[in-house]
Amino acid sequence: MASTSVVGLSWRSNLSPGLSSNPCLSQSSPRRVSSQIKMTISVEKKKFTLEKSEEIFNAAKDLMPGGVNSPVRAFKSVGGQPIVIDSVKGSHMWDVDGNEYIDYVGSWGPAIIGHADDKVLAALAETMMKGTSFGAPCILENVLAEMVISAVPSIEMVRFVNSGTEACMGVLRLARAFTGRQKVIKFEGCYHGHADPFLVKAGSGVATLGLPDSPGVPKAATFDTLISPFNDISTVENLLKTNQGEIAAVILEPVVGNAGFIKPKPGFLNALRQITKENGALLIFDEVMTGFRLAYGGAQEYFGITPDLSTLGKIIGGGLPVGAYGGRREIMEMVAPAGPMYQAGTLSGNPLAMTAGIQTLKRLKEPGCYQYLDKITGELIQGILDAGKRAGHQLCGSYVRGMFGFFFTGGPVYDFGDAKKSDTSKFARFYRGMLEEGVYLAPSQFEAGFTSLTHTKEDITRTIEAAERVFQQL
Ligand code: PMP
Repeated sequence: MASTSVVGLSWRSNLSPGLSSNPCLSQSSPRRVSSQIKMTISVEKKKFTLEKSEEIFNAAKDLMPGGVNSPVRAFKSVGGQPIVIDSVKGSHMWDVDGNEYIDYVGSWGPAIIGHADDKVLAALAETMMKGTSFGAPCILENVLAEMVISAVPSIEMVRFVNSGTEACMGVLRLARAFTGRQKVIKFEGCYHGHADPFLVKAGSGVATLGLPDSPGVPKAATFDTLISPFNDISTVENLLKTNQGEIAAVILEPVVGNAGFIKPKPGFLNALRQITKENGALLIFDEVMTGFRLAYGGAQEYFGITPDLSTLGKIIGGGLPVGAYGGRREIMEMVAPAGPMYQAGTLSGNPLAMTAGIQTLKRLKEPGCYQYLDKITGELIQGILDAGKRAGHQLCGSYVRGMFGFFFTGGPVYDFGDAKKSDTSKFARFYRGMLEEGVYLAPSQFEAGFTSLTHTKEDITRTIEAAERVFQQL
C-alpha cells in the first residue's frame, strides 16, 4: 500500500474515512486531520522501515524476558521482531517509525468501539480528577455491575477482578466450592488464562510457542483437569460417565479464539448444557473474548444457551485491566464476604477501569452496532478467502459478528487438531507481507482477529487488496 510520510508521520490516501457507512461512528480523529494537513505541504514516498522499533525492542530484551510482558507479542511464530507502538486511534495504530497500520488485534479484544474513543477518554479524565483508586466501594462499580447483569443472561451477580486470568481462577474455585467436587473438563486449544489448573493443552501463547504445558506447574495442580477435543460431545459424555459425581464443571470458550477461530458445531453447546445438567456439573462459558463481542449479551445471547457461570474481561474494561465472573445468585453468594469462598483484589473495581467499561458498554448499546460488525467482518473474511483461493492457496475461515479467523489449510477446522494442520510457515510469510502493507494481524496462526465499530468500508477494501497482493507473492 503506498504511503507517504512527513516528519515521522505517515498518511494513506484511504484515510478520507468512509465514515458515513458506519452508523456507530461519530468521532473524528485529530491524528488523521493533522497528518492530512501535513500531506499538503510535502509528499514523499515512505519506505517501510522498523529501525526505531528494532532499537527499542533490542533494549527491551535485556530488561524483560523476551522483551515483552506477554509472550505472543514477541512475534516468535511469525519471525522478525515486533513493532513498537507509539499511538492508537479508531481502527489504526502508529509505530515508533511512523508506519501506520489498520489494526485487527484491537489490544487482543477490548478495542471494539475503536481505540482511544473520545467519550471514553473524556470520562476517564473526569474520573481521574477524583483519584485513581479508592480501595473502598464506589458508585461506578454498581453502574457497571447493573449493566453487566442486565446484559448477560447467566449473570445475576458479578465480582469484578483485574484480568481474564483472575476471572477464570475465581470461577473455578467457585465451581469447586459450590459443587463440593474437584474435577473440571476443559477443551484442547481453549485458553483460560495462565493459572496452573488451566495450563493443560491450552491455546493462545502456549499453542503458538508449541509448549505442551509449562514447567513450574505442579502435577497436583492439573491432576483434576480432564481434556476433550472441542466439538466432541461423545468424549465429554465418556468423561462424565467415568468420573460420575466428581466433575465440578465443564469450562469452554463458546467460540474458540485461542486456537485460531473455531465455531461450535450446531447442537454442541446445547448438548453440553443438557449433559452437564444431567450430571450435576456446572457449565461455565469463558466469555473473556466473546462477551459483548458476538452480541451485547455475549455468545450465550447469540446462541441462546445459558450457562451456570460466566467469565468476562477485555471489552468490559474498555482498554483498562478488568475481568469479571458471575452467575446464578445462589452460586455467587458463596463468594466472600457473602459466603465462605475466598477471593479478593487490591485494585478490583477501581474507578478508572469501571469508567472505561461503562462508556464502552454505553456505546455498544446504540442500535446497529452488532449489525455493522457482522457486515464488515463478513465482507473482510469473504474477501480474504476469495483472494487466497484465487492465488491457489488452501485456506478456510469464518467469522461471527466482530470476531474472525482463517487457517492455511483446506479445512474444515472443528478442533485444535484440525487447526494444527495449517501451514504455519506460509502464515508467517503472509503475516510479514501484510505488516509491510500496513495491516496488523495477530502474530500467530492460532489467534482470532477482531474488528471494531471504527473499521470503515475503506479499511476493509484496503485490507483485501493488500491480501490479494501478498497471497500472489507467497
Ligand atoms: N480467557 C480467554 C477466553 C482469553 O481469551 C483470555 C486472554 N486472551 C483469558 C481468559 C485470560 O485473560 P487475561 O489475558 O486478561 O488474563
